[in-house]
Amino acid sequence: MSIEGGCYCGAVRYRIEEEDPPCYACFCTDCQTRSGSTFALTLPVWRSKFVVEGECVTGARTLATGAEMTIHCCAECLTGLYSENDQLPDLAIVRAGTLDDGSGLVPAAFMWTRSKQAWIALPENARSYETQPDHPAEWMDFLELGRRPQ
Ligand SMILES: [Zn+2]
Ligand SMILES: [Zn+2]
Repeated sequence: MSIEGGCYCGAVRYRIEEEDPPCYACFCTDCQTRSGSTFALTLPVWRSKFVVEGECVTGARTLATGAEMTIHCCAECLTGLYSENDQLPDLAIVRAGTLDDGSGLVPAAFMWTRSKQAWIALPENARSYETQPDHPAEWMDFLELGRRPQ
């Protein structure tokens, strides 16, 4: 079984060859700006199990951590589909709203609750971080990616 998704116009399609990738929500102000919304819901997936078909254009940004982030968008409709972070080179960070069916997603973690808008209530006993883990390894562990086969 694989999970499929794509952009708004259909020119770019992708396939995640994993059963149950983790998903997290981030309320940081960068994610708010980038998504044009209140938070980003994303799935970190192994780059080796992520297949993209169609033409993307990219944008780059240096994060506060010093990491270089590359955002991949459909070249036709400019829907942002996924990003890559040079400090986490084995991962693609897929935007959950571009899945064909994201109805079953449950976030494993909530990041940057410090800048969350007050009206958003998190599920009870949610794993949350006021900001985010300091190091990529800690972040991987937080998402239980360290325990997953690559
Ligand atoms: Zn498109
Ligand atoms: Zn964020």
